[in-house]
Amino acid sequence: MLNEAKARIAKLGRSPRLVIVQVGEDPASNTYVASKLKKAEAVGVKAELAKLPQSASEKELLGVVQRLNKDKLVDGFIVQTPLPRQINEKAILDAVDPSKDVDGWTSTSAGRLFSGLDAFEPATPAGVMRMLDFYKAPIEGKHAVVVGRSNTVGKPMAIMLLARDATVTICHSKTPDLSKHTITADIVVAAVGKPGLITAEMVKEGAFIVDVGTTKVGDKIAGDVDFANVIKKANCSPVPGGVGPLTVAMLISNVVKAAGRPEKS
Ligand code: NAP
Repeated sequence: MLNEAKARIAKLGRSPRLVIVQVGEDPASNTYVASKLKKAEAVGVKAELAKLPQSASEKELLGVVQRLNKDKLVDGFIVQTPLPRQINEKAILDAVDPSKDVDGWTSTSAGRLFSGLDAFEPATPAGVMRMLDFYKAPIEGKHAVVVGRSNTVGKPMAIMLLARDATVTICHSKTPDLSKHTITADIVVAAVGKPGLITAEMVKEGAFIVDVGTTKVGDKIAGDVDFANVIKKANCSPVPGGVGPLTVAMLISNVVKAAGRPEKS
């Protein structure tokens, strides 16, 4: 995917420009932001960080978003989450101009995705779709279970699988018996943030299990799936090294897409 992005940039004839807005010093965000900047630069995207202090107000951040919306030299930008408590995350994300919404997190992008229109797809579920296709997981007519229903991962994931003609079940914290659903699934996407939630007993032999979860346990990152045992009976993506790098690659792909669009506001 990174090579594809490189080739598309060469065709474009200029470096797309990405800005990452970060508020404060969340350690996990620091790691993610550094990885996004590094990978973007490596394929020829001009990536820069706009950093605000932890104490920044919603008004200040909104000012930065509005400035980036108007900046014709910026192809796309993202606001790294989580944001500090004093800032209304939804209000900020929805202030991003949809033509520069390379995270695909605005209500406009979500609505377009929902309606089957061309949209910037949220990077994580789009990465999962790429992974399933790469490993030739059958999707059409199959039963897919998405565990988690966040606006940025679970819900768009379900919509993308539905668009590919899967029969989709969405599970969440109020689902009484999770295993009742996962055991019949041909595809399970776990996007929860609870290490070891999906065990080998809960999955069908030969199913495709994609682990989106990332939780810091000590100095390691753990997924939602008991990988060591699940991999003995099903296909399973690892954490770290699975969906994470794909998410970054998908974001870069969206930046290149944004740069290829004729009109910027
Ligand atoms: P989130 O907003 O916290 O959503 C978690 C979802 O899990 C919620 O819908 C919640 O249900 C559900 N849930 C909680 N406990 C559950 C349980 N016992 N059984 C079934 N469902 C349960 O998180 P998110 O932003 O979607 O992220 C999910 C995970 O993916 C996190 O670990 C995050 O760090 C990771 N992530 C990784 C990447 C990557 O690039 N690898 C990108 C994004 C996110 P309710 O809605 O009922 O509360």
